[in-house]
Amino acid sequence: MTNRFAVIGLGQFGESIARTLSDSGAEVLAIDIDLDKVEAIKDDVAYAVALDSTDVKALKAQNIQDMDAVVVAIGENFEGLLLTTVLLLELEVERIIARAANAQQRMILEKMGIEEILSPEETVGKTVAEMLLHPNMKSFLPLPDDYEIVEINTPSRVVDQTISEIGLREKYNLNLITVKRLYDEKVEGQLQQVEHIIGVPRADTFLKETDIMIILGKSKDVNKFIEVNK
Ligand code: ATP
Repeated sequence: MTNRFAVIGLGQFGESIARTLSDSGAEVLAIDIDLDKVEAIKDDVAYAVALDSTDVKALKAQNIQDMDAVVVAIGENFEGLLLTTVLLLELEVERIIARAANAQQRMILEKMGIEEILSPEETVGKTVAEMLLHPNMKSFLPLPDDYEIVEINTPSRVVDQTISEIGLREKYNLNLITVKRLYDEKVEGQLQQVEHIIGVPRADTFLKETDIMIILGKSKDVNKFIEVNK
């Protein structure tokens, strides 16, 4: 069955969520109070509607309560975001994901019982800082309890070793989720290097210089692994 999602607030963040969901085959209802924002996206999503999401009748008219999830991506208008979120709770929407611009807003949403809260500015800020601090880090997903999932270039000292030789789990307390590897492939008649996932890594999998490791672990363990094996 197709997933049905609504995105309320089509600033850069909401628009990007709506487009990505729609590109992946989901049925998306995109909502904004600003008609221009709705016009700009209407050809790329299933439904695009201009309405004020603090108006419960307008929300009900779109059957918002039947969505699998609703993302409230309103930014500066925190009052609007709060009212919208309360109405969605009242309408017993199955899954509500709300945006918080700062710690105070996050706390208010948490007190209201919202379990999924996004702070795009903070997340991107942290990612950029991590990538600057650790040039080997390609991407970074912060998780609770100081855990993170990172993509890193294979450190030079572990190139040509197997995963069991490196002792990722035993020595560093890290889990290798998978590896991104370059393969020579013919694309439209031309030989090109194309990136693939090796699948679930095995103890005897060798790491190549150009491999990108995707690792789960505590932040301090990831940093230690990168530093020690530079
Ligand atoms: P971004 O950082 O995602 O670009 P932003 O910081 O510009 O967002 P806003 O412009 O405040 O954030 O909010 C995002 C969108 O939410 C805007 O397009 C705005 O029109 C819409 N919006 C604000 N209030 C409401 C409301 N009550 N109902 C529907 N949409 C709303």
